[in-house]
Amino acid sequence: MSRVPEMFGSLSFNESVMRDRLPKDIFRALKKTMEEGSPLAPGVANVVASVMKDWAIEHGATHFTHWFQPMTGVTAEKHDSFLSPQGDGSVIMEFSGKELTKGEPDASSFPSGGLRATFEARGYTAWDPTSYAFIKDNTLCIPTAFCSYTGEILDKKTPLLRSMDAISKQACRVLKLFGKDVRRVTTTVGAEQEYFLINKEDYAKRLDLILSGRTLFGAPAPKGQELEDHYFGSIRPRVKAFMDDLNEELWKLGVAAKTEHNEVAPCQHEMAPVFSTTNIATDHNQLAMEMMKKVASRHGFVCLLHEKPFEGINGSGKHNNWSISTDTGENLLDPGKTPISNAQFLLFLTAVIKAVDEYQDLLRISVASAGNDHRLGANEAPPAIVSMYVGDDLDAVIESLVSGKACGDSQKEYVSVGASVLPPIPLDHSDRNRTSPFAFTGNKFEFRMPGSSFNIACTNIMLNTAVAESLRVFADELEGADNFEAALNALVRRELAAHRRIIFNGNGYSREWEEEAARRGLLNLRSTPDALPLYTSEKNVALFTRHGVYTVEEMKSREEIGLEEYNKTIHIEAETMLRMISRQILPACFDYSGKLASSAAVKAGLGIEASAEKTLAGKISGKSSELLAGEEQLRSRVDAVPQDVHEAAAYYRAEVIPAMEQARAAADSLEVLVGKESWPFPVYEDILFYV
Ligand code: ADP
Ligand code: MG
Repeated sequence: MSRVPEMFGSLSFNESVMRDRLPKDIFRALKKTMEEGSPLAPGVANVVASVMKDWAIEHGATHFTHWFQPMTGVTAEKHDSFLSPQGDGSVIMEFSGKELTKGEPDASSFPSGGLRATFEARGYTAWDPTSYAFIKDNTLCIPTAFCSYTGEILDKKTPLLRSMDAISKQACRVLKLFGKDVRRVTTTVGAEQEYFLINKEDYAKRLDLILSGRTLFGAPAPKGQELEDHYFGSIRPRVKAFMDDLNEELWKLGVAAKTEHNEVAPCQHEMAPVFSTTNIATDHNQLAMEMMKKVASRHGFVCLLHEKPFEGINGSGKHNNWSISTDTGENLLDPGKTPISNAQFLLFLTAVIKAVDEYQDLLRISVASAGNDHRLGANEAPPAIVSMYVGDDLDAVIESLVSGKACGDSQKEYVSVGASVLPPIPLDHSDRNRTSPFAFTGNKFEFRMPGSSFNIACTNIMLNTAVAESLRVFADELEGADNFEAALNALVRRELAAHRRIIFNGNGYSREWEEEAARRGLLNLRSTPDALPLYTSEKNVALFTRHGVYTVEEMKSREEIGLEEYNKTIHIEAETMLRMISRQILPACFDYSGKLASSAAVKAGLGIEASAEKTLAGKISGKSSELLAGEEQLRSRVDAVPQDVHEAAAYYRAEVIPAMEQARAAADSLEVLVGKESWPFPVYEDILFYV
């Protein structure tokens, strides 16, 4: 495809377009804003807006929108046209600096988790100039942050930007101690996205997929993923056509989609872009998810982003590859080749280890949802226990530093940070530990717990802020030291000894690890209602308020929104099950067993042997009674959900989910007894094995 370079970013108002089209002084002012976060002068904003509008109109846009990420996890947009009537029946196309930099959507219909009760419902959006504007559906989309008028943040973007500032500030302090004058440090992210593609016709026949995004019923297909023939397998032509189309759409928007392949489960695939700055990677992942759904529809597919669309085969996650680098292009999680660069690397590595250990709960919370509860700890995804994999080489170095003894094949001593060169850390992707939730992969960490439908902002807010805190503590200590090297040594050894328990290089899926983790005192927060209440613990509030990322009210609101979302999700699933049982499954069972019974009766009248029909009709009737009992039990539990959001979440987990599982078990055993033509919706083997 020779057109790719021309196509790439053609619908994005990126730096090269800005440089080409903006007057020099305006471009410089905008660039300064982008780099330093300084406010944009109204005069500058007006010129940028006007140039942006002309560019957008040339590319077919008629509308503009502030594109933002409310706490629902999806993106929100309200379109306004550029149109401005002139009073003489004619119109001109207008777009002012004020419209570019600030919007005023009605905040009252977005979740605010209690913030709305005490504050005004009005909110405003403000342009994040570091993320380029783009054109989607003939609309100029301006990536923005979303706040209430009294300043409470109502979105995921603002705290993400704040957490990036926090880690930048502390990392620059640390780098100064190594003699580096760095102005800005950014975290980088590459988000690998898993998804399922199924046929639209099958989807349209299943109420559970339509309303809850996953199958609430379904006996396992005779074949699942046991032959391991799908992973990296050759891609179905129809799917390949979808991928090509998706790539094209994403490239036009400036999203550098790079890798595509089949995943483990049938119908499951993955897309990974080239990494970028965290806020841009977040915007791009949101766009990628949206585009996947849109493009799928053009190919007769539906794209499922749910974490567990099908029982019995793998669910979908999103790997958050994360690193830290300087504005001078240095990756701070790259060990480097000299003792001094190794020393700096070890300090940053220690900061991450300390952060992950101290804020395990926050990382777990950032991936908590009803959907992801099906994955974590279910032998296909990392366990619900947060731990880190650093590989044998680094582990040996850490052991040597902590114990003061020689280590590794080379029997080298690393009793002192910066004294000798580290062994080469393999960047090799082939043999690394796939069962670890947080794996070091040579020059970055791969956090594998996020669910496929998640907005990655939350995870990165937690990570950035927790690591900022480690770095702050380190900088405080080292800035005051008389002998930097001695202090550095003492600090790294002490902190590694204190936080080593979070490192686990073995099989994270094993039962032994659960026991071992408990002995080490690591958290094992199995479900969302177990995890979310820890959000606002004293230490977590102290963390976020200290770094100016969240106020305590903002944290409380997020905890509440998370629990509410959990409760609503399970509620919808339970109601959908009840509807499908009473209106689809039971009637099908009655019809089919009725037919068998009539046939048996007719045959008996004629003196023909009919025990098969009789036996089968009896079995189906028996199971139907079980299903009806299950339905009634589920109904009564759903009707008894407590009012309080915390209590309700615990109740959904303890009472409603088991009742759902019981009802499902009865329905799934009926599915394999009832004739295919009589079953009311497509089953797993139909959905998963299309051509
Ligand atoms: P795998 O599937 O083996 O984990 P992929 O190549 O699919 O590997 O994905 C790796 C991801 O990590 C890509 O999105 C890549 O851009 C990203 N990545 C590479 N280097 C960095 C970095 N320094 N910071 C953040 N992400 C990175
Ligand atoms: Mg990966």
